[in-house]
Parts: sequence; structure tokens; C-alpha cells
Amino acid sequence: MTSPDSLTSPEADVPVPSYARDAVARALAADLELVTFLYADHGGVIRAKAASTQFLAERIESGIGHTVAMMAMTMLDTLQPVEGMGPVGEVRIKPDPATLVELPYAPGAGAMLADLIRPDGEPWEACARSFLKLAIDELAVEGYAMSAAFEPEFTVGQRVADPAGGPDRLVPADDSLCYSVTGFHQNYDYVMEVVRALNAQGLRVEHYYPELGHGQQEIPIRHAGALRAADNHVLYRETVRGVAIRRGQWASLAPKPIPDQAGNGAHLHASLSLLADGTPAFADAADSCGLSATGYHFIGGLLAHLPGLLALTCGSVNSYRRLQPQFWSSAYTVYGMDNREAAVRICSPLRGDATSSVNLELKPSDSSANPYLALGGVIHAGLDGIRRRLDPGEAVNVDPATMTQVQREAAGARRLPLTLTEALDALAADELLVDALGPLRSTAYLAVKRAEAAAFAEHDTAWECFQHFLRF
Ligand code: GLU
Ligand code: MG
Repeated sequence: MTSPDSLTSPEADVPVPSYARDAVARALAADLELVTFLYADHGGVIRAKAASTQFLAERIESGIGHTVAMMAMTMLDTLQPVEGMGPVGEVRIKPDPATLVELPYAPGAGAMLADLIRPDGEPWEACARSFLKLAIDELAVEGYAMSAAFEPEFTVGQRVADPAGGPDRLVPADDSLCYSVTGFHQNYDYVMEVVRALNAQGLRVEHYYPELGHGQQEIPIRHAGALRAADNHVLYRETVRGVAIRRGQWASLAPKPIPDQAGNGAHLHASLSLLADGTPAFADAADSCGLSATGYHFIGGLLAHLPGLLALTCGSVNSYRRLQPQFWSSAYTVYGMDNREAAVRICSPLRGDATSSVNLELKPSDSSANPYLALGGVIHAGLDGIRRRLDPGEAVNVDPATMTQVQREAAGARRLPLTLTEALDALAADELLVDALGPLRSTAYLAVKRAEAAAFAEHDTAWECFQHFLRF
């Protein structure tokens, strides 16, 4: 086998930069023909360009050229007028070579997660992955590191034409009961292929279960550092859909691909530890919920920013079809101990891992979001809570939908935004989040998402569900 030290890019004879050597050697050893550079856009869509392995060394160094306009593109591929994102101007899709994986469901292909950088090599002001990196840096200024995991649900089935000529429908692959093992038998081949493919990419599958909805599955993966967690979620979305498509099936992580079935969440779990020595920062055995003061302040920040934050964590029109009371997706700005109707759930510690397993779970989060913007937004909101020592009030340990309006008001339980437009208005009014996003990113994001809201307002539920299960 070629030794990494002697590697050159075969075509151009360019020496492989040292930081990329390992990735190029692995791509060659695995006989990869194409390596895809993945990024997530403002529509929440994962897009990419691939480099042929023979040019990989050069492209790791230079990135692949890309138009600035793609960050003004909606999930319907309609380009929005955003200053600085027109037909003139160029960025590079620059991969992180440490993230190289072989794609088990696409033999001969690999993937890397990528940043969007300017031609001068600086991070582009509209790069979502850079937004998360900067949020992680801010957290470090306060002395914390974050561990996180997206906990995605998805629906597997077939894409079927509507005999009446309407939009295609997603017909679920099973009609099994919640956690019924019959659902596993009905989807065994698909599920096993997904589990193997995730593990092979280093995503560390923790569990599997058939979920409540017909065809609905859940395969949670192990938490990781914040950047890795968002990268993992991109690879996860690609895997769930890639395996299905190659098998002649269809899988969707859209929040509500089938209107009368359970929605697909991607609950966001997060915990902080001290950068200095790794001590868990959310655990306090003396507290009745096992949560530290830092943890309560973090919740205070999440709840204070939740209406606007939702525009980032629940990024599509379809997201708001999921966020209904009594669907276990959350509908009110409350937190509670193991309360699955609360927007923020304090997860009870696991025996045997009492300290490090304490984490917060944000329920209003789904896979139509750009995971980098979602997690970066969560960090900024929580950090604001820590910096301002925000008090989240009392925990709500009942289903808020069963409280009277007077009780909800007394508990500070506000209904979450009912539509994407409401969430976007809240985001536009949230100075902290708009500031953190910066002028280019916030302008483009709001333009893209407002255009999506306007487009879907012209159509019915069937078309909305179709467009979302097609893309997510
Ligand atoms: N499917 C629910 C959601 O939309 C979550 C159910 C559960 O608690 O796992 O978030
Ligand atoms: Mg679930």
C-alpha cells in the first residue's frame, strides 16, 4: 500500500498537505472513487459536491468552488434575492479531513463534512458549520464544553403515486404498535442495514425501536462533542435515506410526513462539562431534580429564547404540524423532570452513571433544521441564561395541556409559535440570536424561510407533506 508520507495527488503531483494525509491514504486504501463534501443550507437541505479521489489532496486544500447563491436557495430550489448571494461571487466547499467516512450504502463513495470558506481561506459569514464552531468557542470562553446528540425519529415506507393525480404519498412500511417487535420483523433488513452503516461510520448506535407511528423507527446514537454531534446528524440523515433509496424504499425524517401519524422529532440532548477537567457541569446530587445551578440557568436561557430559537430548531413549515399539545413533541414553554410534554426535559440520571448522564432534552427540534444552526442557536440561548443567571421558574411536572389557562399563565407557560412565520417573527425580534447569526446569515436565513412560508401558504397539506418527505 502507498505510504501516506509518499503521497502526492497523482494528476498534479501536488504533495499532500500534512493535515490531509490520513484522509487521502484512507480514501485510496478503501478504493473510493468519489468523496462527497457535505454541507447543510438555509433550507435545512443537505447539499454537496464530490471530488474524484485522484484530485482529493488538491481539493482538501483548495475546496471545491461553489456559488454564493446557494445559501439563498429555499427547500423548493427557488432562489431568493439576498444581497451578497447573487450570481456573482464564489465560495469554496472545504472539507474537514478528520471527518472522512466510507459510505456503506454507496460503495465506492465516501463523505466529509465541509465548511463554506471565502476564496481567501477565511470562514464565510454565511457558513452554518462555522456558526456552530464559533458558538463552541464562546462556550469555551465561559469554561465549558458541550456534549450533544440528536435523537432522530423517521418513517420508512414507499413513495407512491396518487391515483387521483395529486402529490405522491409516503405509504408506511408497517402498521405495528408502539415498541412492538412486529415492527422490527417487518423492517428487519432495512433496520439492520442502517444500524450497520451508522456503526461503520463511527456513529455508535445505542438503541433501536419501532416507534408509535406506522413505519416510524427510532435509532438513537451516542452523544459526542457538539461539532461532532451536528456532523453525525448530517451523516445520519444521509444514511437513513441513502439505505432506503438503494433498497427501492423511501425514508423520511420530515417532522410530519404523514398528517395523521405521529411526528418525527429529533430531540436535542445536551450537557456541559468543565473544560478544565471534564467535570460534568449539569449534575448536582443535592438538587431535587439532580440539576446544578448552571443547568437551571441554561434552561432559563433556552426558555427565554425559545420562540425565536424555534425558527432554527424547527426550521420548516411542516415542523409546526408536529408541535401540537399531547403529541409528546411539546407545545408550551415549560421545563420539567422527565416530562415528555415539556419543551425542556431534565433527563433523570442513569444508575451507574449518575453524574455524567444528567442532560437536558429540547423537544421542539426536528430533522428539517440545519443541525449546525440549531445547535449553535441552543448554545447561544443557554449561554445567555448562564451569563445572566436566568431563573427558569418552577418545574412543571404535569402535562401543560391539562392545566387551565390561568394555571399556565402563573407557571409562565406560553404556547410555542403556531407557524413558521410566527417563529421567524420571534427570531427577527431576538437581538441575541440575530446578533450571533450576524447580518449576512440572519438576512439570508429569514429571506429563505419567509419565502418557504409564503410558498406553502398557497398549497394544501398533501403538497406540504410531499415536499417535506421528498427532501428530509
Ligand atoms: N414522536 C414524538 C415527537 O414528535 C416523540 C415521542 C417520544 O417521546 O419518543 O417528538
Ligand atoms: Mg421517540
